[in-house]
Amino acid sequence: MEKTSMFSIHEGKPIRCKAAVSRKPGEALVIEEIHVDPPQAYEVRIKIICTSLCHTDVSFSKIDSGPLARFPRILGHEAVGVIESIGEHVNGFQQGDVVLPVFHPHCEECRDCKSSKSNWCARFADDFLSNTRRYGMTSRFKDSFGEDIYHFLFVSSFSEYTVVDIAHLVKISPDIPVDKAALLSCGVSTGIGAAWKVANVEKGSTVAVFGLGAVGLAVGEGARLRGAGKIIGVDLNPEKFELGKKFGFTDFINSTLCGENKISEVCYLISYTLSHI
Ligand SMILES: [Zn+2]
Ligand SMILES: [Zn+2]
Repeated sequence: MEKTSMFSIHEGKPIRCKAAVSRKPGEALVIEEIHVDPPQAYEVRIKIICTSLCHTDVSFSKIDSGPLARFPRILGHEAVGVIESIGEHVNGFQQGDVVLPVFHPHCEECRDCKSSKSNWCARFADDFLSNTRRYGMTSRFKDSFGEDIYHFLFVSSFSEYTVVDIAHLVKISPDIPVDKAALLSCGVSTGIGAAWKVANVEKGSTVAVFGLGAVGLAVGEGARLRGAGKIIGVDLNPEKFELGKKFGFTDFINSTLCGENKISEVCYLISYTLSHI
């Protein structure tokens, strides 16, 4: 993607743009004009060019009590953006870079970030309630009345512009189609990581995946990459089965057709036969 000077005309100043704001629990998002402050140290301001909807966004839009119920809020955490401007002490990123904001932090310095056995950043990962990673409840968003708007998972991609800490940022090739790259922010990485890292699927093993949504399909892909022998998809919707084949699923169970049999028993039978159900 070509880098042009248009990315710097607002540098150091707030940007006025539109965002989909979650005003009240359970209510539809409202498209509003907002102000997005410039990035502070270790932050970048991003122009969002593609964002997708994860079910976690839907869940959080409905929470009506407790510390997770925060309104007004800008949801969204699967996205691709282009860096518009950078704050101080930002190394490795520059204006015009195509980036993937990710909700899970990676400080690159702590013991866990350096270990291949963990991705649970010991420095940052325990705080998932703040607005900004290094500035607590300080918000970079204001509505047209000058009131703060809450961030979401340090990304808030349902906005034309957002501010993200570099601990939540990955630079990607500008050649990757952005609608596919956006899914790497959450759904695909969650699914592949579950098979590859968490379950540590071994070559030739049998894997059963319950629910073939974005995450479930990515679990199948992760199991395929790890050399699983059988990858069984369990879902109520048979239309998912054709799609599942593209992600490495070898067998399918429609759980509504299993009668009195437990799903685990059907999976067990499949793991020792070549038949498909
Ligand atoms: Zn870390
Ligand atoms: Zn998600």
